Amino acid sequence: MKREIYDEDHEAFRASVKEFVDRSVLPHTEEHIAAKALPREFWIEAGKQGLLGLEVPEQYGGAEAGDFRFNAILQEELAKVGAAYPTCHGIHADITAPYIVELGTEEQKQRWLPGVVSGEILLGIGMTEPSGGSDLAALKTTAVRDGDSWIINGSKTFITNGYSGDLFVTAVRTDPEKGPKGITLFGIEATAEGFSRGRKLDKVGMEESDTAELFFENVRVTDAEIIGELNMGFIHMMQKLPQERLGCAVANVAHAKQILAETVQYAKERQAFGAPIGTFQHNKFLLADLVTRIEVAEAYIDKCVLAHAEKRLTAIDAAKAKWYSSQVQSEVLDHCVQLHGGYGFMNEYRVARAWRDARVTKIWAGSNEIMKELIGRDLGL
Ligand SMILES: Cc1cc2nc3c(=O)[nH]c(=O)nc-3n(C[C@H](O)[C@H](O)[C@H](O)COP(=O)(O)OP(=O)(O)OC[C@H]3O[C@@H](n4cnc5c(N)ncnc54)[C@H](O)[C@@H]3O)c2cc1C
Repeated sequence: MKREIYDEDHEAFRASVKEFVDRSVLPHTEEHIAAKALPREFWIEAGKQGLLGLEVPEQYGGAEAGDFRFNAILQEELAKVGAAYPTCHGIHADITAPYIVELGTEEQKQRWLPGVVSGEILLGIGMTEPSGGSDLAALKTTAVRDGDSWIINGSKTFITNGYSGDLFVTAVRTDPEKGPKGITLFGIEATAEGFSRGRKLDKVGMEESDTAELFFENVRVTDAEIIGELNMGFIHMMQKLPQERLGCAVANVAHAKQILAETVQYAKERQAFGAPIGTFQHNKFLLADLVTRIEVAEAYIDKCVLAHAEKRLTAIDAAKAKWYSSQVQSEVLDHCVQLHGGYGFMNEYRVARAWRDARVTKIWAGSNEIMKELIGRDLGL
C-alpha cells in the first residue's frame, strides 16, 4: 500500500539518511556486534550529518525539525540495518534530548545541547531500578538535601547507552512521603564523583547496544542539575513516554518489514522438492498473511506519526502502537525464522539475530502488559 504521510522533503531526508547508513554503518556492523557497543565514531559521524539534533533548536546546533516524520524516517532507516541502531539513537536523540530541550534551563541547554548534537555528549535515561521498572512511581534511588546540594544514592539497571554514555537524565526520589509526586529528574554526568557503572550486560539480543547498571554513591549535585520542576519528574516522564513508545513502534515495524522482504526473496530462491519453497501454498499464504499484517500495522503507526507531527497523538494511541507493533514484529520474525529452516537458527543469518533482537520490544519502554493496562483503564475498566 502506498504510504501517504511523507512528502518530497521527507524523502530527500530519507535519501541522506540512507547515504549515512551505507557509508558509516553497514561496513561496520560486525565490529559493532563484536564490541557490544556503538563506537564514538558512529556518534560523531551521525552528528556531522546532522542526525542527532532533530529535536534541538538551531541556536544550540540542532535542526529544530519540529516534525516527527523526520525522526520516524531516521528510525526506519536505522531499523533496516539492525534493531539496536534505532534503539541507541532513539534513546539519545528522540527520548532523552527532549527532556533537556523542553524542560532544561538556559544554562543546561548551553552546557549540554551542543555536545548532544555533535555526538560528544552521549545521552541515556535512567528510570528502571533493580527492584522494578513497570511500577515507576515506586523507584528507590534517593536525593537528600544537604545545604545547597542534593546527595544521590541508589542504582539503575538495564540502561541503554549506559556503558558509554556521558549524561543520564535520572529519575530520583526527592520526597519519600509523596509517591509519584516525590520524584525529580536530575542530569547526572558520568564524571560526577560517586557515579560508576557496571559491565556491559550480557543480553539475549541487541548486541550492538550497550546496556549497563548505573550506581550512585553519595553523588553530589545541585539545583542546577534538576531537569524540569522539583517533584514533577513522574509527570514529566508520563508526558514524554508517548514519543518514546511511538519511536519504538516505528522501529518495530520497519525492522520486521525489512526482514520479511529478505525472507520473501529467500523463499523465491530456496528450493525443496524441485520448487522454490515460497511456491508451496502453505508458505505462499503465510507470506501473504505476514505482508498484510505488516502493512496494516504500518498504516496505524503512520497515522500515529502524523498525529504526533501535528501534536495530537494521545498516550493511549501510542500505547496501542507500541504493544501491537512489537507483537506483530515478534510473530512475523518467528515465521521468517521458520521459512529459513536451519539457516534461520544461525547467527550469521540476519533473520536469526532479528528474531532475538525483537524479543525485548515486548518488555521495554513499558511492557505490553502495562500498555494494555493503560488502554484498559481508558476503557473505564
Ligand atoms: C535491553 C533493555 C534496555 C532497556 N533500556 C532502558 C533504559 O534505557 N532506561 C530505562 O530506564 N529502562 C530501560 N529498560 C528497562 C525496561 O523498561 C524494563 O525492563 C521494563 O519497564 C519492565 O520492568 P522490569 O524489567 O522491572 O519488569 P517488572 O516490572 O518486574 O515486570 C515483570 C513482569 O510483570 C509484568 N507486570 C508488571 N506489572 C504488571 C501489571 N500491573 N499488570 C500485568 N502485568 C504486570 C510485566 O509486564 C512483566 O511481564 C531496558 C530493558 C532492557 C531489557
